[in-house]
Amino acid sequence: VLAAATASAGEAVLHVGDQEYRVAPVHHLGETVYLPGESLLEKLGGKAVWHAGGRRLTVRFGTQGATTTLFSSQVLAAQTVIELGAKPRFVAGRFMLPLSFYERVVPLLLAQPVRVEVTNATAPPAVVPRLFVDKAAGRHRMLSLKKVVLDAGHGGHDPGAKSPEGIREKRINLEITLALADALRRRTDVEVMLTRSDDTFLPLGKRTAMANASGADMFVCVHANGAYRRSATGFEVYFLSLTSSDQRAADLAALENGGEALPTGPGEGDDLNMILQDMIRTEHLAASERLAVAMQARLDLAMNLENRGVKQAPFYVLAGAQMPAVLVEVGFVTNPEEARLLIDPANQKRIVDALVEAILFYDAVNGLAE
Ligand SMILES: [Zn+2]
Repeated sequence: VLAAATASAGEAVLHVGDQEYRVAPVHHLGETVYLPGESLLEKLGGKAVWHAGGRRLTVRFGTQGATTTLFSSQVLAAQTVIELGAKPRFVAGRFMLPLSFYERVVPLLLAQPVRVEVTNATAPPAVVPRLFVDKAAGRHRMLSLKKVVLDAGHGGHDPGAKSPEGIREKRINLEITLALADALRRRTDVEVMLTRSDDTFLPLGKRTAMANASGADMFVCVHANGAYRRSATGFEVYFLSLTSSDQRAADLAALENGGEALPTGPGEGDDLNMILQDMIRTEHLAASERLAVAMQARLDLAMNLENRGVKQAPFYVLAGAQMPAVLVEVGFVTNPEEARLLIDPANQKRIVDALVEAILFYDAVNGLAE
């Protein structure tokens, strides 16, 4: 039995520039080929450090670094999110990275071309249970995230945008938000609070105030997009800025703000509170952007829709939020086909799963201060 387990460990050759490295073991799990993690990275001259009780690995080559986690197939490298197509895993008790990590991330870190030649990939000798999942409950234990406030846009006498067939944005927002709350509660130990859980109207300022009063460490607003052009399509994720990234972003912010003007910034009065608010915004900007980027990357994988990118606009509901905050536009309700997709439970589930994965990734990356 022992002989059988050690008979073929799998092999590959890694070409970095004109150097060659023999790699073993090389395993496959399903479609994915896995190569060793920190041992191979260190052989290539990198420094690999585990954080957060072994849930997050940071690797550095000189000034270049990348962060990977066991929860996500996304890697943060050089301020970009790179999709690996599979999560890093413990395979037969050893931390291993998908082959794509060496092809997509390592070339960025080394500034050299990398080619992997797999001679032989074998199935791992034994299955090791997934780590860091609360086995009794089957839920991820969050590292840093304690409480999330989810905000379904519009409601009550404010329907938001409307499809030509009369599907209202407020309904889509609520259905997706309720499903997201349910998924987060089932899959993680994060506490979830909703600004509204039925068809009631809430002023924008009240929503932000609720998030702030709750002491939450993440605020996610869910909306569906509107445009005069019926053919407008796709999803986009916003984080706050006081200026818009383009004219359409400015128009959308005006539409979603529904006539409620942004609070005046510092300089337009000497209200200390306003200055403090502005500092708070700046403080959470980088984290908000990271969350927005992770969501956009996940939605892009999950949905066969146009990726409109991560944008910035002065949304009232995000202004003054005392925590990282994003606004997701899940699709265009004014596009008849997309409106039908947005009320389809199977498609809603794809959106929700993508948002949960993005939140898990965000949590793992932010898990511990460096
Ligand atoms: Zn809206």
